[in-house]
Amino acid sequence: MPVDLHVHTTASDGALSPSEVVRAGRNADLLALAITDHDTTAGLDEALRAADGGTMALLAGVELSVDEQSGSDVHVLGLLIDHHDAALAAALTGLREEREERAARMVAALAAAGHPIDLDSVREVARGGSMGRVHIARVLVGAGSVPSIDAAFRILIGRDAPFYSRKQTLDAVTAVATIHGAGGVAVLAHPGVSGEPALTALIEAGLDGIEAFHAEHTAPDRERFAALAAYHGLLVTGGSDFHGPGVHSAPIGGGGCPDSVLDALAERAGLYRS
Ligand code: MN
Ligand code: MN
Repeated sequence: MPVDLHVHTTASDGALSPSEVVRAGRNADLLALAITDHDTTAGLDEALRAADGGTMALLAGVELSVDEQSGSDVHVLGLLIDHHDAALAAALTGLREEREERAARMVAALAAAGHPIDLDSVREVARGGSMGRVHIARVLVGAGSVPSIDAAFRILIGRDAPFYSRKQTLDAVTAVATIHGAGGVAVLAHPGVSGEPALTALIEAGLDGIEAFHAEHTAPDRERFAALAAYHGLLVTGGSDFHGPGVHSAPIGGGGCPDSVLDALAERAGLYRS
């Protein structure tokens, strides 16, 4: 049965609520589903309630933004975390505050350049969730500045576009230690898409695994990252990075993750529980 260890909800930039994601996971006959929203665990209580009593295992997760000095997005998944851990919650609050400040900087620059948008509209689109560039993109599309989300990133707010602004994030050591402190397993997300330059620093910081089976990884990517994981004694995980039906991502369950990773994950998490 398929396993999907990388899925987003409306708590960050996904289109489905946590309950709807659980329903979609069940409809796809998943054996296990991890919800991994960007810099927030706000969707997990609802998801755990919705999954209660079913056969599909719901794993508590998060996708942390980590030091971007490498020039590409470095995302680290925390899987099997205690999402009520106080130190984790404090770190996530800081990351979300920085997301909001970064959004404010970008919106101010866009407005000054004549794009008719404001921060309140972005807040409304984010619905109290972890604020990201996708939410700014949706407002830009709504305001008629660009024809599509893709165009917003390409022309205005993508990493190489004029209105991009970097956000402060966690360094590798802090990110991995925070996940371990919450009893979770730290996994480098989608290194074939972004983040690979941070691999060495993360391994030195105590990284547990590599997401070799990401939906956007090619077959050679999967082989290469699985081999790298084996070489470094790390486990492999996988997921779809699902953001909602029809949203630039594979369907739920589409990461091609083997279910054998579940035992390895649980064993590894046992190291960080006392
Ligand atoms: Mn990511
Ligand atoms: Mn993701």
